[in-house]
Amino acid sequence: MINEAATPVEKTDLKSLTKADLSAYLEELGLAGYRSDQVFQWLYQKGAENFNEMTNLSKDLRAHLREIAEVKRLTVHSRQESKDGTIKFLFQLDDPNDYKVEAVLIPDFYDDGVANRLTVCVSSQVGCMFGCSFCATGKMGYFRSLTHGEILDQVQIINEVAQEKYGKKITNIVYMGMGEPLHNFKAVTESARIISDPLGTDLSPRRITISTVGLTKQIKQLADEEIGINLAISLHAADDKKRDEIMPINESLNLEKLEEAVKYWFMKTEKPLTYEYLLFDEFNDSRQDAENLIKIAQWAPSKVNIIMYNNVAGVALQRVREERLNRFMKTLINNGVTATVRRSRGDDIDAGCGQLAIREGQERGKSLAK
Ligand code: SF4
Repeated sequence: MINEAATPVEKTDLKSLTKADLSAYLEELGLAGYRSDQVFQWLYQKGAENFNEMTNLSKDLRAHLREIAEVKRLTVHSRQESKDGTIKFLFQLDDPNDYKVEAVLIPDFYDDGVANRLTVCVSSQVGCMFGCSFCATGKMGYFRSLTHGEILDQVQIINEVAQEKYGKKITNIVYMGMGEPLHNFKAVTESARIISDPLGTDLSPRRITISTVGLTKQIKQLADEEIGINLAISLHAADDKKRDEIMPINESLNLEKLEEAVKYWFMKTEKPLTYEYLLFDEFNDSRQDAENLIKIAQWAPSKVNIIMYNNVAGVALQRVREERLNRFMKTLINNGVTATVRRSRGDDIDAGCGQLAIREGQERGKSLAK
């Protein structure tokens, strides 16, 4: 006899399942394949928050799913808007530890003020263990990785805001928020697949960029996965000594190992890559630094993004002065490097590169930093 007082069955969060696992799960319930596509589309394209919204499923099926499964969704804890149109979101995770992550919507406008590119910068982890000395997230330490559903919720919710505010969908996604994306490889690659799925966000993989501090094994693995997305390397220093100083990962995965991984990436994908280089005043902005960077840019077809640093409290490294920036850029360009300067966006709301961090009442998590 069934014991009515038995503990309730733990419900399956459908967004914790990969597309293949969702399909298998629904098949086990006796549902035909096309049903799994419908549920997938409700979750990732239409952003359904519960089963009631899934109106092309029968009432009985919806009632059954409600009993055994759930649809978790992040909530917006708060939102700040910069004078340049950048919006920073603080998301509350559905998590007993009350964790939160940040993500940013960065609009570019045509001269007439109409939105052109709408880029979303998503987080892949709560905090980060790689401890780069210039990065506010790195100072938090690492707490946990996000599921692909939690990454996709950031995209989904910001996409809704973009349509309300700017009248169009997001156009680009960069994994450059909190966390090291390739340290959360499975969830990040699954989320990228769903973003480019015609039944998901339906954004071309060419508009998705994953940025890594240089996890060489995972760079190769990403190349092997053939997802078609772009790769950016957070370089920030062009010799091992300086890179060791600001990025602890370089002590175990140095530039020689990075070079090998970059060459593998290009050999497998034939996709040029981007080097992100935060230019710090009188640290990595000399003629010698530029020459080292020119050599790195020749490892494989690439371009260099020089990023203007948003100063972070407690960090001695400072944003480069304009005359030093101009000299550095001139050396790169005169030597055939494709280089652009990325001006900081949203710095009045601490939404810039390296500034994302949860400050209120946060303890310190695990970190490579000594
Ligand atoms: S720069 Fe990236 S890898 Fe380094 S600490 Fe910050 S989030 Fe982590």
